[in-house]
Amino acid sequence: MASQQDELVFLPLGGLGEIGMNAALYGFGPEEDRQWILVDCGMGFGSEENLPGIDLVYPDLRFIEEERHNLLGIFITHAHEDHIGALVEMWPRLRAPVYATKFAIGLLETRRLSEPNAPKVDLNEIVPGQRLKLGPFEIEYVPVAHSIPESNALAIRTPHGLVVHTGDWKLDSTPYLGSLTSEETFRALGDEGVLALVCDSTNVVREGTSPSEADVSRNLAKLIEDAPHRVAVTTFASNVARIRSVAEAARECGREVVVVGRAMDRVVEVAKECGYLDDLPEFRSTENFGYMPRDKVVAILTGSQGEPRAALARIAQDEHPDIALSAGDRVIFSSRAIPGNEKAVGAIINGLIERGIEVITDRTELVHVSGHPRRGELAQMYQWTRPRIAIPAHGEPLHLSEHAKFARQQGVKEVVQAKNGTLVRLAPGPAEIIDNIPAGRLYKDGNIVIGAGERALPERRKLAFAGIVTVAIAIDDRGELVGDPVIDAMGLPDKNRQGREMADIIADTVADLLDGLPKAKRRDSEAVENAVHRAVRAAVNQEWGKKPACHVLVIEA
Ligand SMILES: [Zn+2]
Ligand SMILES: [Zn+2]
Repeated sequence: MASQQDELVFLPLGGLGEIGMNAALYGFGPEEDRQWILVDCGMGFGSEENLPGIDLVYPDLRFIEEERHNLLGIFITHAHEDHIGALVEMWPRLRAPVYATKFAIGLLETRRLSEPNAPKVDLNEIVPGQRLKLGPFEIEYVPVAHSIPESNALAIRTPHGLVVHTGDWKLDSTPYLGSLTSEETFRALGDEGVLALVCDSTNVVREGTSPSEADVSRNLAKLIEDAPHRVAVTTFASNVARIRSVAEAARECGREVVVVGRAMDRVVEVAKECGYLDDLPEFRSTENFGYMPRDKVVAILTGSQGEPRAALARIAQDEHPDIALSAGDRVIFSSRAIPGNEKAVGAIINGLIERGIEVITDRTELVHVSGHPRRGELAQMYQWTRPRIAIPAHGEPLHLSEHAKFARQQGVKEVVQAKNGTLVRLAPGPAEIIDNIPAGRLYKDGNIVIGAGERALPERRKLAFAGIVTVAIAIDDRGELVGDPVIDAMGLPDKNRQGREMADIIADTVADLLDGLPKAKRRDSEAVENAVHRAVRAAVNQEWGKKPACHVLVIEA
């Protein structure tokens, strides 16, 4: 039973404001003593932001790190990186048991084993459909259709009512592989009474309903069959249904399959263990590719997002050790560029076309379908579940606000536009935002996780923009220069507009400045540093119109 002070709250720490780094908390109890569960622990990608040297972004979980003694468990809805990608890195800060399905656990384990020093995570297997009781929560995994096997919504029952957290889903009556989103199950939840629906917003700006994976599969089969020479299909490594449908199409027309790329190898290994690639001919290893007849092979490749180190980018540059394509071969992008990656993908497509390779994308052919619900599908979900409260999730601000409007149009009385860090009380009483909690981003920088406030990133941006000048000066205790100053510059143009060497300009500036300083002042190394710093930046700015960073080192000789 719920007592007077017990509240049910929702606190997203990632994923409400971006597509990526999903991490959402549900809490139950009085304000000073709540118990929590965390749903998903995903990563974002740094590529779309101005973050030199940063590829991965994690949610800032400090709120729950401090409350970790009250964290009952971490529930993974499905194995996409935006839902599991931060788990191995962040788990040592949380140390709560993790619940996930077999496929997600398999992928987490293979990743962990590939990273030296990765912690042993407390992983617990959940069977779709299973219910688990943990403190005041009862969590049920409800299978949904999506673009990776074993995707689930969570039905979270509490003494204050039932929350349906959809995770990523779509409607697809012929998903080719994996679960359906069952109308019957979601209607039953609606009949039981849904307090709040926390729902995927990714495709809320798209009208209608998405095509089925089976339609994509049929079209891919046609494109593979009528290709005159080699075929290469690139897709998201985790899309096992797509890999399977390409493999089946290949078998139908007497072609053999080669899988290329480490991420794809890992997924294929786990998918085989889970039985998703049963009854298919063995995939051939990449070394065989060069010896196979051109019209008897299909390669499935990583790199659909233009990742520079992935298989497709290297093949497009003709730099892959095993796989080469030539004029007349066909490359199918069975994917869509994630916002921020369009340029990199465009460059690869253009590179391939310039080499005479035929490129097919989803702009002209049905070779990809999203795993997220469009408006028609969302409307169904609202009709089935009939929630009292709607909270749009999994989206950028535009998606969340469009989804909020849409939910009101569906007749939902209470729509809360939450974002990362807003603490929403779902019950008792009307739903409302009652607090703001610190939330934000962390960056994976090489092997280290750094906070968004650290100096490293603004410094790196500044260096990238205007370079750096280093000046070393030795001065003895009488204030006399010992030798000439040593000057080095990086990232500056060699010459000014008149053709004068920039190095000479800087050297003259430093010499003039030191000449003009009285000996007494020269003995004050801090004063010298400041004066040289100012003079060098001003002189370069005069010539170049930009001020570089400047390091001055005064050595007392
Ligand atoms: Zn997602
Ligand atoms: Zn997903």
